[in-house]
Amino acid sequence: METKSIILELRNKHEMSQDELAEKVFVTRQAVSRWENGDTVPNTETLKLLSQLFDVSINTLLGSPRKLVCQCCGMPLEDAMISKETDGSFNESYCKWCYADGNYTYHDMDDLINVCVKHMAGQGFTEEQAREYMKDMLPNLSYWKDHKELEDGGAFEKFKQQLIDEFNALNIKNMPKVEKLNALVGAYVNIAYPMPNGSVVKLLDDNATYLGNQLESELGDGHCFGILANADFLMVASYGKDGAEPELLLYKKR
Ligand SMILES: [Zn+2]
Repeated sequence: METKSIILELRNKHEMSQDELAEKVFVTRQAVSRWENGDTVPNTETLKLLSQLFDVSINTLLGSPRKLVCQCCGMPLEDAMISKETDGSFNESYCKWCYADGNYTYHDMDDLINVCVKHMAGQGFTEEQAREYMKDMLPNLSYWKDHKELEDGGAFEKFKQQLIDEFNALNIKNMPKVEKLNALVGAYVNIAYPMPNGSVVKLLDDNATYLGNQLESELGDGHCFGILANADFLMVASYGKDGAEPELLLYKKR
């Protein structure tokens, strides 16, 4: 679709008149009319405003001339998956899992590969095939090419180590020492836990990224501990094989 039809369609979808749209993006009604006739295309600044107003990417407004791919994980991007800056504008280089609130989620390619192969395995790939594919593809993406410049002076690694120390200070019975935390997408670890009052609750945001790990109980009885954290909380759960009978052991605000 061309920009003229896209703007018209979005304006109709949002039930705005040409006048109303013009006022929202600081142009004249005639300018809107010229866009919709295909005489002109909005300038870069106006495209940014339209993108925020309609919550679609600039790429979409321009008729999708580029096939957007997350420059960190390689995922093809639709508007709903594109990351945003803290001011709400789209960052069309990354998916919302790899970049959120001005921060990059992954600083270690192996961490990212470990997260991705779990999602890809079972979708026609074996875990090994998925791993090979990722190892091949990721170094060609700009995030990993430029990674040296994006490093945050070790602040993220320090934060991770701080969380590891806090987990170890909890001294949870039969839980081995935490050595490492991986980035995990909320949707894949958002387990429903039964509460003492009989209700069942989910505590996480499916779209957020957390740091966590799974540790086998020192008793060797097949039970596992699932640990999860972000800047706000620490959480420890235990469960049996394949996540059976999950039990929330601790949820602590930081
Ligand atoms: Zn990504």
